[in-house]
Amino acid sequence: MDPGLGQMPAGERLEADGIAVRFGELRALDGVGLSLAAGQIVGLIGPNGSGKSTMINVLSGFVSPFAGTVTHAGRDVTSDAPDRRARRGIVRTFQAVRLFPRLSVWENIEAAAVAKGAGRRVARAQVGEIVDLLELGEFAQLEAGTTPYGAERRIAIARALALRPHFLLVDEPAAGLDEEETDEMAATLRRLCEATGCGMLVVEHDMRLIANVCDHTIVLSGGTILADGRPQDVMQDELVIEAYLGTRQVDLDAGS
Ligand code: ADP
Ligand code: MG
Repeated sequence: MDPGLGQMPAGERLEADGIAVRFGELRALDGVGLSLAAGQIVGLIGPNGSGKSTMINVLSGFVSPFAGTVTHAGRDVTSDAPDRRARRGIVRTFQAVRLFPRLSVWENIEAAAVAKGAGRRVARAQVGEIVDLLELGEFAQLEAGTTPYGAERRIAIARALALRPHFLLVDEPAAGLDEEETDEMAATLRRLCEATGCGMLVVEHDMRLIANVCDHTIVLSGGTILADGRPQDVMQDELVIEAYLGTRQVDLDAGS
């Protein structure tokens, strides 16, 4: 077995088609489709409450859609549970970081590698590679609960990477980071996509990060796709600018 992170199979796709999600009367998503290829980074942006996290939940199996299908490598996975999808290589991070605070950073990542089925020696090699890739060396032996906030966000991604994703779905990786840390996060995401060949869906508020990282961007508003294209084109789109300005107050108040 290859002890390193390796390269994911080229040509593999994660696709969603006609996704609809309802919470009671609320249509959180209504006919949303997307297609993500291995090695590609797609941004998913939109005002607060537009359905971004719900889309990640649908792709990763945490929410069952009312209508629509999710397909991975040509197979319908719409009714597969989250752990089953994770084993297939569809891995997500959460908007709020979840770590084992009393374990070291290294152990947090190792636990994920072992959960994926790596033996101790292989796990150690993989964790070493991931720690280097995410520049977490100086924190590796610290208890995860004592690391600075900026490092915590990278550790969450490191844990996801230890599950050897074919597709990595990241929910607001730069939330709460300052400008410099956000630029570092952008560089990190690109680097890990290149190193592993995985496809990535990045949900983010920070337009700079989206512009720096993504090949393609989808804009959600009120549960439907408002615009779709290259980040620089999408950000010039009047409908998109309007959707953002119209909810700026809400964004600031909600703080997420
Ligand atoms: P975003 O991530 O774009 O900010 P979400 O996908 O979290 O938006 O939410 C979309 C809409 O669905 C919001 O109106 C939100 O309040 C609602 N929502 C999300 N999850 C649930 C849930 N589990 N139960 C009820 N309503 C929900
Ligand atoms: Mg969200």
